[in-house]
Amino acid sequence: MEVLAYGTQSAGATLSPLKFAREEVRAGEIAIDITHCGVCHSDLHQARDDWKNSVWPCVPGHEIVGVVTEVGAGVKRFKVGDRAGIGCMVNSCRQCANCKMGDEQYCTGTKSCTLTYNGPKKPDGTNSYGGYSTAIAVREEFALRIPDAIESQHAAPILCAGVTTYQPMKYFGLKQGQVLGVAGIGGLGHMAVQIGKAMGAKVIAFTTSPEKIEAVEALGADDVVDVDDEDAMAKHKGTLNMLVNTIPYKHDLNVFLPLMASKSTIAVLGNFLGFDNLDTATMLFQHISVSGSLIGGVPDTQEVLDLCAKHNIRPQIELIAMKDINNAFERMQAEDVRFRHVIDMQSLKDDRDAASSAERVNDPVRGEVVGVS
Ligand SMILES: [Zn+2]
Ligand SMILES: [Zn+2]
Repeated sequence: MEVLAYGTQSAGATLSPLKFAREEVRAGEIAIDITHCGVCHSDLHQARDDWKNSVWPCVPGHEIVGVVTEVGAGVKRFKVGDRAGIGCMVNSCRQCANCKMGDEQYCTGTKSCTLTYNGPKKPDGTNSYGGYSTAIAVREEFALRIPDAIESQHAAPILCAGVTTYQPMKYFGLKQGQVLGVAGIGGLGHMAVQIGKAMGAKVIAFTTSPEKIEAVEALGADDVVDVDDEDAMAKHKGTLNMLVNTIPYKHDLNVFLPLMASKSTIAVLGNFLGFDNLDTATMLFQHISVSGSLIGGVPDTQEVLDLCAKHNIRPQIELIAMKDINNAFERMQAEDVRFRHVIDMQSLKDDRDAASSAERVNDPVRGEVVGVS
């Protein structure tokens, strides 16, 4: 399956057109013609090697929605013409305790789960390539059904931003009437505000961009607080039962600790780089837990898609052409996007210049997990 894509081959390079062949569909798999792909902050981190684990070439994209073009033998849940989505994973061992529980992101099998891009590197140097591309194939267990009520362009960001914020609210049992804080109102945070409201919480949003306040109120937040405004912060002292912290870089978590209620939890979702000088005294005296949470499993991803359909929750998106991805990365870094870029993949399929200038790179691996057929 010949595919056109955008990716990068070193940390310092911008994304440019690439081409490669994806493997043909096998039993239990479906092929998807990609129509839309969300632009996640992780895409930028991975493409720029911020986490020092990137594998080249890097073709980002794990908020993939498209139309099924082919089904392999034995596929039960999809037929040609259905819409389907792929989130952050394309495979896992499907046998360990976490996989059996539907938490494939915590797979403890031989090779852990296979991420949609930057997945395990094989000895021949190939890795998995994501949704900044025209087509992909995946095992049907890792494909999501897109509810009829949700347009493809709106479904895409739910596959990472939606499930990543929904999962800890579900896991920690956010209850009706509790106070939920959301720190960082970008792609993830703006979904967290809406999902928290749908779950019956009072939602307090925290931002360092006061110019966003009106837009965040419009999402349904009960209060929107400028983190640098000490008086506004003090109003919420000791009230938050949970804080969903989506800030995707190293920051001072201590500013939020005084706002936490007794026996409350902070779920850290976007910062892989640690905290300096965490004020554990405040945590001890009020039994405040700081937890990490990574994306969400396939069943939770389906659940949040259905929840968004039921409660009429939609990400606010800006549709972009594939060739504008480097500019989109710059704007995301400058926090100048409300609130999620989504790539219209037709723009790449129609781009003759990209097709003729694309550099051929190694063919990617698909969801291979060692020891599993
Ligand atoms: Zn993501
Ligand atoms: Zn597993």
